[in-house]
Amino acid sequence: MSTALIVVDVQNDFCEGGSLAIDGGAAVAAGVTELMRRGTYEHIAATRDYHIDPGSHFSEEPDFVTSWPRHCEAGLPGASFHPALDVGPVQAVFSKGQYSDGYSGFESATDAGEPLPDWLRARGVTAVDVVGIAFDFCVRATALDAAAAGFTVRVLSELTACGSQATTDKALADLAAAGVTVDGTPRVGA
Ligand SMILES: [Zn+2]
Repeated sequence: MSTALIVVDVQNDFCEGGSLAIDGGAAVAAGVTELMRRGTYEHIAATRDYHIDPGSHFSEEPDFVTSWPRHCEAGLPGASFHPALDVGPVQAVFSKGQYSDGYSGFESATDAGEPLPDWLRARGVTAVDVVGIAFDFCVRATALDAAAAGFTVRVLSELTACGSQATTDKALADLAAAGVTVDGTPRVGA
């Protein structure tokens, strides 16, 4: 069994100081760097939210459930990976949400157009560990789609950051129902 690490959306806009900042984002960036440097993963992929025109995903009056302030716009600094994330060990970057909500990393592709699930399968990956931001949105969606696609999925919650308690509780229930293992207890405001 080959396990890959999927690093979800560790981007400036989702960390302290960003337009859609999640408490603990910068600490996640540093923690994921540490994890990658241990060298335990043969395959490491990173996703990024990369919006061009995502429609109602952006709103002037966001509800923070289905609509959001502008964030991670393609080519702007907010879409860059957080400086505490060492992208050296990342083997491929997958962009999502150009013209959609793009919550799931399984809907992302490289600049060359290779979808994340294809990239994983081409490397014989059968299990994935998911980390990143935010636990209750893009990590949740990525993990659920990975499970639906037949991968064995684990979320390392110490290396995630959470938006709100209500959506975190819902994400935990959804992940459990899908057979996803959640290591640790995700904490809001960690
Ligand atoms: Zn987005």
